[in-house]
Parts: sequence; C-alpha cells; structure tokens
Amino acid sequence: MTVYQCPKCSLKKDVANLSIKIIDGKIVCPETLCKCGKEMENIEGDSGMPNIIRNESSIGKGILKRMKRK
Ligand SMILES: [Zn+2]
Repeated sequence: MTVYQCPKCSLKKDVANLSIKIIDGKIVCPETLCKCGKEMENIEGDSGMPNIIRNESSIGKGILKRMKRK
C-alpha cells in the first residue's frame, strides 16, 4: 500500500495499484491525480516507483541477457 497526499488540499489516498499512461510524452498516473487537478506526492510506502516500471525493467534485463548470449 502506498499513500499519496495532495500538496494543495492535503487529501490523502491509498493507492494499491498504479496504472501508467503516457500523455504528450509524460508519464502520468491517473490514480495519483487529486480531484483539484494537482498531482499527489508519495508520503508513505516502501517505494515511490510504480510496480509496472519495475516489471518493465526486469523484462528489459531479460531481453538484454538474451541479446548478449547471441
Ligand atoms: Zn488536491
């Protein structure tokens, strides 16, 4: 569980799973956007990195290993 808080209106939100969207070349997590439109900040939790990025990097490492073997 990761807790996010809006710096503007101090609204807190527990985010269990982050989804990532790329809008205009920027990484956006819709779950961390506050109702006021401000992006919430990670205030609690083991990592600020969304799981999906960790998964992608481990897939990337696997591809690199396979490329080195050839
Ligand atoms: Zn807010």
